Amino acid sequence: MRSVMQFVSGNIPVIASLIVICLFFSMIPLRPQLWLYPLVRQAVALKIDYQTKNMLAKETPHFVIRYTPADADVVDMVAAAAEAAYKPVTTALAYAPKGKSLVLIYPDRQAMKKAYGWEGGANAMGFYWGGVIQILSPKAWLENSQSLEQFIAVGPLTHEYTHLVLDCMTRGNYSRWFTEGLAQYVEYKANGYEWVTADNGLAGKVYSLKELEEDFDGLPNQALAYRQSLAAVRYIAAVHGDAKLAQVLSYLMSGQQVETAIEKSLDMDYATYETMAMLWAKGNMKQYSKIAN
Ligand SMILES: [Zn+2]
Repeated sequence: MRSVMQFVSGNIPVIASLIVICLFFSMIPLRPQLWLYPLVRQAVALKIDYQTKNMLAKETPHFVIRYTPADADVVDMVAAAAEAAYKPVTTALAYAPKGKSLVLIYPDRQAMKKAYGWEGGANAMGFYWGGVIQILSPKAWLENSQSLEQFIAVGPLTHEYTHLVLDCMTRGNYSRWFTEGLAQYVEYKANGYEWVTADNGLAGKVYSLKELEEDFDGLPNQALAYRQSLAAVRYIAAVHGDAKLAQVLSYLMSGQQVETAIEKSLDMDYATYETMAMLWAKGNMKQYSKIAN
C-alpha cells in the first residue's frame, strides 16, 4: 500500500508538524503510533475533504456523501445503504466514530483511478483510505433490476464502514488480513453476504497466516486470501463467542499486536489458533459447489 505521506505531501505545515512530533516522540520508549496515527489520518481526511469540497453533497445523520451530477439519481440509494450499515457495524464493533464519516462516489473506474492512481482491482466496488470511504458509482456495476435491498446486501458500504470504524477505534493498530476478515464478518452477520468463488475453497492448499500477514496484496489468489481472513475472524466468534472477538478488539485498542491480542483472548498460542481456525473453516464454511447447486 502506498505511503500515507504521499497523500499529504501538498500540506507542508501539517507535514512539518508531524515530523517534529515524530522526532520528539521517537526518543520516548512508547508506541507513538497509537496517538500519532489519528493525527495523520485526520490530516489525510482534511486534504480529501478540501479536494472534494466543490462536489455535490448529501448529509445523513452519520454520513456526508459527496458525488458528481452523474450520480444525482443514485445518491439517495447510497445514503440509505450507508445509514443501513451504521447500526450493524457500530454494534458489532461496540464503537461509533465521532462526527460524520465522508463517503465519496466516483462516477467510473477511470475517475477513481485518476484520484488515487489505483482502481482497486477489476471488481472492486470501493475502498477505504485516509478516514474516507471511497466507492465506485453503483451505476458502474449494479444491474438496473437490482433493488436497494440488493445494493445494501452486495454493495460495499457495510464492508468499507467496518474498515473505517476499526481504523478509528484501534488507531490503525491491526493487520491487513484482520481488517479484511472483520469487514467480511460484519457483512456476513448483517447481510448474509459471503464472497465464495470456485477458486477460494478452503479444503485444498491454503495460505499460512504468516503469508497473509507479510504480503496480503501480493498473494496470487486474492479470493482465497480474503476467504481465509473471514475464516480466521469468524472462527473466533463462532467457536469462542462474540465476547472473545470483542476482547481481541479491546486488546488492539490498547496497542497489542493482532497475534498477542488473539493469543491472550483465546488463551491459545498462535500456531494452535491457526490450525484450529482452518480446521473449523473446512468443516463449517460454505463451499462453492454447495452454493451453485
Ligand atoms: Zn476490504
